[in-house]
Amino acid sequence: MFGLAIHGGAGTLPRAEMSSEREQRYRAGLAAALATGYSVLESGGTSLDAVTRAVAALEDDPLFNAGRGAVFTIDGRNELDASIMDGATLRAGAVSGVTHIKNPIELARTVMEHSDYVLLAGSGAEEFALTRGFRLVPRSYFHTAERWRQLERIRAGDGKLSPLTISHVGTVGAVARDSHGRLAAATSTGGMTGKRYGRIGDSPVIGAGTYADDRSCAVSATGHGEIFIRAAVAHDICARMRFGGRDLDQAVREVVLEELPALGGEGGVIAVDRRGRVAMEFNSEGMFRASRVQGGEAEVAVYRGA
Ligand code: ASP
Repeated sequence: MFGLAIHGGAGTLPRAEMSSEREQRYRAGLAAALATGYSVLESGGTSLDAVTRAVAALEDDPLFNAGRGAVFTIDGRNELDASIMDGATLRAGAVSGVTHIKNPIELARTVMEHSDYVLLAGSGAEEFALTRGFRLVPRSYFHTAERWRQLERIRAGDGKLSPLTISHVGTVGAVARDSHGRLAAATSTGGMTGKRYGRIGDSPVIGAGTYADDRSCAVSATGHGEIFIRAAVAHDICARMRFGGRDLDQAVREVVLEELPALGGEGGVIAVDRRGRVAMEFNSEGMFRASRVQGGEAEVAVYRGA
């Protein structure tokens, strides 16, 4: 049974700022990215292609905090992180702190498939991109008025917006199982609004923001990156299944609802196991998410239960 789940970040805007019109735009963006990834699986494509395509679609949508629409660092730049993992081979690729790459997830995949490395950072990652035929985009490509306003509010000390809450609206990820039983996971983000430049969160860290292993499950995370790194969230979920006899739901719930809150870590994950079962769990007010499994309908949700 093949299936795909995606997320567009955990946490929500303050209710007053999430108009229903705006919520509909997020839902439409999620539905479109889900359809893009699902069509890959439906036509017999690989889970790696499905997660790459779904995440790239979300990176291109300025509503989400990844690719175009990424949040700003405190000094007004966009530094992007992404990673991808192949559950069949345990190969992985990641980039961090890139500033000129339109689709960081595609570069992460190229690092996995065409280099001897797992994680390339900053200008080294961009020089590598050039050798692989990527075109660099100017920094202005990532500048959106909305994210700039959010940075200004953070700089002005607006108490209604914490850097955490607003950046959670929008980190993106995907997990998939294809018709051959192969799992893959991918995550992409601009990180946290107002972050110090050079700061790297969990999203490009294999085992924290992303992990996939055909013997257990594939996971993509979103939330307070520092805590997700310390809790090795994505790998912990896989390990609980592989060594601890948990099923997917149990493993996900233990980590998201017990381990993370104990460390003060807000956020959530999406995951799919080798049988194609999907779990989407969060300890924040909401998590933008969508999923579709073979033979089923597409489901899109933001808050608990809806
Ligand atoms: N996990 C991301 C980071 O810490 C942010 C997020 O998911 O909202 O960079």
